[in-house]
Amino acid sequence: MSILRVALDVPLARLFDYSVVGEVAIGQRVVVPFGSRQLVGVVMACGDTSTFAPERIKPVSQVLADSAPLSSELLALLQFCSDYYHYPIGQTVMAALPAPLRSGKPLTRKVPEWFRLTECGAALEMADFPKRKAVQRRILTQLAEQPCSLAILKRLSATASAQVKALEAANWIERFTPADELIAVNNAIPHVFREIHTLTPEQQRVVSAVTGSEGYRCFLLHGITGSGKTEVYVHLMHHILQRGGQVLLLVPEINLTPQLEHYFQQRFPDAALVSLHSGLSDAARLDNWQQAQAGTAQIVLGTRLSVFAELPKLALILVDEEHDSSFKQQDFLRYSARDVAIFRANQCGIPIVLGSATPSFETYHNAQTGRYQMLQLTERASAAASLPVVRCVHPKQNRMVEGISEKLLSAIEQRIERQEQSLLFINRRGYAPVLMCGDCGWLSGCPHCAGKMVLHLDTKRLRCHHCGMQMRVPTRCPDCGEADLQPIGSGTQRVEQVLQTRFPAARILRVDRDSTQNKRAWQTMRAQIHANEVDILVGTQMLAKGHDFPALTLVGVLNPDSALYSSDFRAAEKLFAQLVQVAGRAGRADKAGEVLIQTAFPDHPLFEALRTHDFTSWAASQLAERRMAGFPPFMYQAMLRAEGKVEEAVYDFLNQARAAAMALNHAVDVLGVVPAALPRRANHLRGQLLIQADSRKVLQQFLRAWQPALSALPAAKLHCSLDIDPLEF
Ligand code: ADP
Ligand code: ZN
Ligand code: ZN
Repeated sequence: MSILRVALDVPLARLFDYSVVGEVAIGQRVVVPFGSRQLVGVVMACGDTSTFAPERIKPVSQVLADSAPLSSELLALLQFCSDYYHYPIGQTVMAALPAPLRSGKPLTRKVPEWFRLTECGAALEMADFPKRKAVQRRILTQLAEQPCSLAILKRLSATASAQVKALEAANWIERFTPADELIAVNNAIPHVFREIHTLTPEQQRVVSAVTGSEGYRCFLLHGITGSGKTEVYVHLMHHILQRGGQVLLLVPEINLTPQLEHYFQQRFPDAALVSLHSGLSDAARLDNWQQAQAGTAQIVLGTRLSVFAELPKLALILVDEEHDSSFKQQDFLRYSARDVAIFRANQCGIPIVLGSATPSFETYHNAQTGRYQMLQLTERASAAASLPVVRCVHPKQNRMVEGISEKLLSAIEQRIERQEQSLLFINRRGYAPVLMCGDCGWLSGCPHCAGKMVLHLDTKRLRCHHCGMQMRVPTRCPDCGEADLQPIGSGTQRVEQVLQTRFPAARILRVDRDSTQNKRAWQTMRAQIHANEVDILVGTQMLAKGHDFPALTLVGVLNPDSALYSSDFRAAEKLFAQLVQVAGRAGRADKAGEVLIQTAFPDHPLFEALRTHDFTSWAASQLAERRMAGFPPFMYQAMLRAEGKVEEAVYDFLNQARAAAMALNHAVDVLGVVPAALPRRANHLRGQLLIQADSRKVLQQFLRAWQPALSALPAAKLHCSLDIDPLEF
């Protein structure tokens, strides 16, 4: 009889003991009774004693042997996340698994795409084999030498898939599940690498620095847009694939994964590449996860959740656009996939490369102080491409047409004449952010939130972007009854309308969350843009990321100013990153690009740095401010949030938490209690308490001491969370 310590998906910070006859591997999935339910859990430890009385320990109901046990490395990684993010171990472990592994249902196994000769196949006399079946002959010869995967057979001929079926039907070959050694031998077979560029000397230096490093090392690849960071990733992958290792590439946007997958597969036509993101079906995600776990997937490309994939031969981690806030999960386990990836690289003793044109100040600071190694690409890779010219347009000093300057409009006109594309970037969807009564000043506030309802003219509705509340656009003011209702400010729909009036013949495409709700819509739009079937693009940040639109030569930025004076101390950092990215869309091919920014603060250091393409001074000035003000990266933060229907309950909870924190007398600042930036959402009142310390260690020590007091506080009917290294304020 052994005692298993099992991680279960319950909100308690502990493991649960169960008994089992015989032995069960650590990392194995089991089904156990929990109260009146049967839950799936993962065995974290195994022993022969328990602190509980024997009669209280129930036996395991079932050992789920249809999946391989989780590795001790992955379990250690999850334990670290549970400790660091102060999130229950059971919920941390279960959240990392693809859905089918969280359920007790039998797994449907995909037939492996590996082949070997059957006895009949091995007995074939190749000399007698029909000459005209050349591909089949080649496949048989290859398999006689060594069983292998379909990917490798495909190198012999493009028709391999069909020929394999024929050979299977003839009972000459069969499918089988490969053993580890065989996978290793197969992965070591030289793969096809489409080398389309000779690396520039700068790129070569970066590649050599990473391939020449030993053990764990964190690199910041700081390269301007178009400097060929992707090409660097490709060469690093090639290096790892040649040595039979696995590469994990983390990317921020689920929207970008199909495109990137296609790109990398083209560069490595026969490599086993799988993607992991929330857009996959449960079955597909499980299949890809298992290929990663088996070591057969050589390149794993995924969004933040893929940082928890099993990768037995992991040899390199790449994090593209490392500054992107989508690497941070904003609910449940509030982890930063970038930070977890760094921990993981350290744990495995392998290099990790964080790539960005605008690194986060945390990362940049670490590179400056030598914790990370800074690698720079300072020039555009393709000799023809130059950086765009950036200029500011002051709305008060220029003729404006419904929020768009005449300068920008005539620049667009020129592009239309030259059959080039323009992009107008505005980070606000809908027609106008608010509707106002010209008579009494009524504003379209949301009845359930502290925010305003946004006017959507296409559906003739007012919509709250916080809680989803919708209503018909009123024809008269609900307060005074006058009909003088006016949209205030602009969103993408209004910009689209203004452009339509001005350029009736132009082909205008709006890209935002509303216009791309349909899954295929965005793909179709991208194809249209590439085929140059679009003259003007109007869109939100969706358009800013990683797309290469060769005919685009003009970018207009509307209304960026609100971010300059936001209460979020990272707002300017984010705006700069976004604008560098949109500006980077202009003039990537052989055509020079131009960027026009409409701002009332053209002398702000942010625009100054954009004009001069000078991230270094921008970062220096911002970091100096952060140091003065005592903000990250010079301080480490944790945010306790609470929300509930009763205001008093929310603030009582936070105030008691505050009192408990003060009583501990640790070297931390306890800031708050204050209302959240959006103090009411969907009829829930929201408050927060910020803790700051000048070292990670001090903060963690404090949080460990604080935790028992927090758990003891009455929090019924409240939704509370602790967010370590928070990004949202
Ligand atoms: P980044 O990811 O840094 O923005 P990309 O990797 O997308 O840049 O590269 C920008 C452009 O430069 C691409 O069109 C790419 O094909 C091209 N490119 C990259 N490396 C080279 C090279 N060594 N020589 C010529 N062109 C290159
Ligand atoms: Zn009114
Ligand atoms: Zn609302």
